[in-house]
Amino acid sequence: MSSKPFKFIIVGLLIVVFLIATWPYQFQHAWQSSYTYALEPIQSLQNIQSTMLQPTLNEAKPSNGTFNYDSTAPSIPAVKLSERVVEYNIQVSLREEEHMLDGEELITWTNPGKETVTDMYVHLYANAFHSPDSTFMKESGGQLRGDKATDKSEGSIKLLNLETLEGENMLPRVKYISPDDQNNNDYTVATFRLIEPVAPGESVTLRIKFEVTLPQVFARMGYYEDFVMAGQWFPKIAAYETVGTRNVTKEGWNIHQYHGNSEFYSDFAVYSVKVYAPENYTVAGTGMQTKVSNIGQGRKMVQFYAEDVHDFAFAMSPNFITHESSFSHEGVPGVKIKLYLDPTHEQLAERYIHAAKSALAYLGKNYGAYPYSTLSIVVPPAGANGAGGMEYPTLVTTLAAESANPKYELERTVIHEVSHQYWYGMVANNEFEEAWLDEAFTSYTEEKIIENAYGVTSNHRIEASFMTNPAPLQLNAWLYKDHNHYAENVYLRGKLVLLDIEDIVGRDVMSKIMRSYFQTYKFKHPTTQQFQRVVENITKQSWQSYFDKFVYGNESADLAIQNIENRVFEEQGKTIYEYTILLDQNSGISRSIPIDLVYEDGSTVRKQWDLSDEAKLHFVERSEVPISWIKIDPEQNNKLDYHLNNNFMRAELPNTEVKRVNIVTESIIDYALRLFSW
Ligand SMILES: [Zn+2]
Repeated sequence: MSSKPFKFIIVGLLIVVFLIATWPYQFQHAWQSSYTYALEPIQSLQNIQSTMLQPTLNEAKPSNGTFNYDSTAPSIPAVKLSERVVEYNIQVSLREEEHMLDGEELITWTNPGKETVTDMYVHLYANAFHSPDSTFMKESGGQLRGDKATDKSEGSIKLLNLETLEGENMLPRVKYISPDDQNNNDYTVATFRLIEPVAPGESVTLRIKFEVTLPQVFARMGYYEDFVMAGQWFPKIAAYETVGTRNVTKEGWNIHQYHGNSEFYSDFAVYSVKVYAPENYTVAGTGMQTKVSNIGQGRKMVQFYAEDVHDFAFAMSPNFITHESSFSHEGVPGVKIKLYLDPTHEQLAERYIHAAKSALAYLGKNYGAYPYSTLSIVVPPAGANGAGGMEYPTLVTTLAAESANPKYELERTVIHEVSHQYWYGMVANNEFEEAWLDEAFTSYTEEKIIENAYGVTSNHRIEASFMTNPAPLQLNAWLYKDHNHYAENVYLRGKLVLLDIEDIVGRDVMSKIMRSYFQTYKFKHPTTQQFQRVVENITKQSWQSYFDKFVYGNESADLAIQNIENRVFEEQGKTIYEYTILLDQNSGISRSIPIDLVYEDGSTVRKQWDLSDEAKLHFVERSEVPISWIKIDPEQNNKLDYHLNNNFMRAELPNTEVKRVNIVTESIIDYALRLFSW
């Protein structure tokens, strides 16, 4: 062999080795901003694809002429909004007859910490449906939000292959752990020792083959007839917390199982996902749809790309009717709203889109920019409500299309789920450990938006009366007694606390607090204490005692009329009625509360009770006209008073014994007040 061809072969081999070795890094460069992506010349990386998975990098980019791609999307700088700890390159194919998904993924995880990592932790959420003995099924009793498990609710995810890029098999190393409850029958968290430890800043790429058996739709995921909702469906790397994130002082994995009352928590990532489905299906997914191609044999491939998100979900159905609407507004630089509608709701398309625009307009203006180029809304068919009312990054599901003529629950659900894009989606708190930072903030925001856009107000008195068992808000989700206990605290009490803070500081200051919290912590995974610091920074005062009572503690702010004593006497020829009134606050709040004394001649005198001064107040009132009623907080502004029964007392004469109004009358009064303020 002459030396010249020999040199060519050596150089050629070196180039191939170099390309393969640097492939994971090239991958990173493929993820440009979704806005500028299309404007970039397509990089030619095909040569190095042959040894990789089918998804080719250039296909991750939108190309002109594909379904729904908007080449007029605004051009903004390609900024990295989050620390993109993970890159997922997934292909998944629906086996529609068997209701299964066949998946293969390449995951590149970059160690964000300062310590070397030797073990990986992977969520296999779909194993929540593995058996009645999974932690999720045991805790939920097979029920979630009125949805009941049936014999078709079994589902699972199975790892078929787990290897390094070099092909070293790690599957025999996999163990299942249950850090929260030591349940040996729970398979929702897997761990394995890596072949090579990952030093800080270094990356590891894993290749995983997996198979998902979809349950009949239940608790957010599954199939219903032809409809498929894939949420929490792929092997997903656990969150790795660095020092300072959520105030942690020791870096490490934050790992929890799939619980009856818990949602999720992950690091921000980049996703390129190819979904293979029958040709006649329409597929909705997180992020932007970058490519659709028919691949023959009656099947097609739909590719999605998303960055700065921490999850990926998709839904599909042959029946979806699609609508699109472009929208821009203050704080919304340009978004394509994509509606995937069950045909029952064909005539309601405008209502869905209007609700989504109302939400985005409010959120963008008041909190900050919606940075993504798409927002997809999936309306599940009747019967598939288990998939309904759920948030995923840039993709939300509404209530199922059960009724042809829905009331405001349609708008309310859209607004609620779109609001999640800011809290769950971008602020991205740990939903396992501090669910209120998502659900209460979302419920608060939903309330503002629906009031603003539709004039629909909430009845806080009815809501407060639902509070039967106040519990701390910063609590692991599975430690609440049951779903009602979780919901009444995490959604409702949390929202009432935020509204109460708003009452104390005023609407303008509260807007500043919410905006500042969003701006400071978007893409940062904050904790409750960091929200408290924002409240303190904006109001320039300590909120420790308030948070101790109502956020970290479970106190209510119960105000009560304990007793009214009276006597009647003559003075200078006049009859004088004298009342000695004892008020009590069963838990401390610090503000001035009005007290109305309602006289028998119909007149009312308003007094103020400054709660910061006295826990109990004894005061004496003299008048020439008898008092008929005394009411504390007559406008019911104290949102954390869950017992209204003791806020009223009749001051009866001539008996010196004063009775509380009987419970029936009281309930009627309460009910009337509720109707009034609805
Ligand atoms: Zn929610």
